[in-house]
Amino acid sequence: MKRLLLHAAVAGAWIALALLARLQEYAPHASLWFPPAGLAFAVGVMLGWRGVPAILVATTAGSVAGIFASDPRPWDARLWSGFASGLAHALTYVAGARLLVRLGVERPTPQAVSFFLLLAPAAALFASATGLAALVATGALAAADAREAWLAFWIGDAVAVLSLAPLLGILLGGLLDRLRFDPPGRLHVHVQVIPLSATWRPFALKIAACLLALTGSAAVVASGPEHRLVGSFLVFFAIVPLTLIAHTEGALRTYAAIAALGTAIAGLGAALGPGVHEVSYQFATMILSGSALFGLAVPVLYSENRELRLRLTHDSLTGAHTRAHFFEVAERELERSRRFATPLAVAAFDVDHFKAINDRHGHAAGDAVLTEIAARCRRELRSSDALGRLGGEEFALVLPMTGEEAAAETAERLAAVLRDQPVRHGGALLRVTASFGVAVVDLAGETVPDALARADRALYDAKGAGRDRVRRAAPPASGR
Ligand code: GH3
Ligand code: MG
Ligand code: MG
Repeated sequence: MKRLLLHAAVAGAWIALALLARLQEYAPHASLWFPPAGLAFAVGVMLGWRGVPAILVATTAGSVAGIFASDPRPWDARLWSGFASGLAHALTYVAGARLLVRLGVERPTPQAVSFFLLLAPAAALFASATGLAALVATGALAAADAREAWLAFWIGDAVAVLSLAPLLGILLGGLLDRLRFDPPGRLHVHVQVIPLSATWRPFALKIAACLLALTGSAAVVASGPEHRLVGSFLVFFAIVPLTLIAHTEGALRTYAAIAALGTAIAGLGAALGPGVHEVSYQFATMILSGSALFGLAVPVLYSENRELRLRLTHDSLTGAHTRAHFFEVAERELERSRRFATPLAVAAFDVDHFKAINDRHGHAAGDAVLTEIAARCRRELRSSDALGRLGGEEFALVLPMTGEEAAAETAERLAAVLRDQPVRHGGALLRVTASFGVAVVDLAGETVPDALARADRALYDAKGAGRDRVRRAAPPASGR
């Protein structure tokens, strides 16, 4: 039932888009684009070969009903033409889409966008060649007419795939989710790369700017035949707001904007009638779609960079600062403390008998304990304090504007929140304690690693004295 619904939706959408192409014809058999090609490509990415029958049903039924072109032949002749050309159309686009999936479409990276920009026109070229051959073979078209039509078919299909397939793929993915089909969660990251901003106004303004370029172009084209060429070029200026959308509004809105602009340009071509330099409008749609898609790859790189930076600075298990980054943060705090003459404390702590937790409950339990320890510390500490993981089960703290008394109190508090509540893992309750050493940095000349070494010696005193306690470090050797 669910499956039937999905296929019916695909077939219905294909016919609706074919009617849209018909509506946007600027001359008999000539539209600036052929939107069903965009759907066929999207179906290939999201459904694969399973999507072919629905498209075949749509092309065959549409051909019998005579919605694509006025074909005076009897219905059974039209049926065969619709079936054969539909088969060529569906197989070619699905094959192109499968190839793209193999090369990677999970995120709109520069590589994925490049593959799409090359594969879409290539698939359109094959689709128009095989589709026209099918029409000639089944008697729907004279060979001479096919030779004349191939370029228009190719470009019309390519324009539609480039501007519509990304949006239709996302919409189809949404439908698959709603119907609860398993996987293919493909393309969902496209939507998540840049979170949609809560406000619609800036997006609406950018869309309005795109449409302004379009209407400006239309006005100049309509003002007289001698202005047609220069008028059609004005569409180029939509590239500025459209690329801005790609950089700032997220993948979904970018795909929607590309599709809207493609539709509006095709509609404009139809409204202005023949001789409007339709080729330059098709060209504009291709260039606009291509540059907006590439524009989308930029925020993807930003987000990947952010992720890499996060991995360098934060330990992936506990979220604490990595060793190197912890010392960087500590160094900055030391400078600030020197400038404002405020005390700076450091602390080191090490989990007690941690090896026993690993041995008795497994490594995963040990990992869970480390994660929980870091979480409890963060809850207890000020936002200006920093927690670092220096090694396996050894952590360190930087406590700005904190003297020895307050630092020792903080360490006692942390020791208590570990001791008082065992960590639950699986069915087991794991008792966790830690030993602490605290030291106040001597602002007169001590380095952070030196102060931390003193804290570490105090920590080992705490271990020696029976663990689960806090020890204060001896003053630096140079003394005061
Ligand atoms: P002590 O009270 O003297 O500190 O005893 P301990 O068992 O905590 O000390 P020891 O240094 O002998 O053992 C530390 C153990 O921590 C050994 C190592 O396998 C484990 N460990 C280090 N890193 C990780 C980690 O990321 N995850 C887990 N689960 N265990 C780790
Ligand atoms: Mg230990
Ligand atoms: Mg240790």
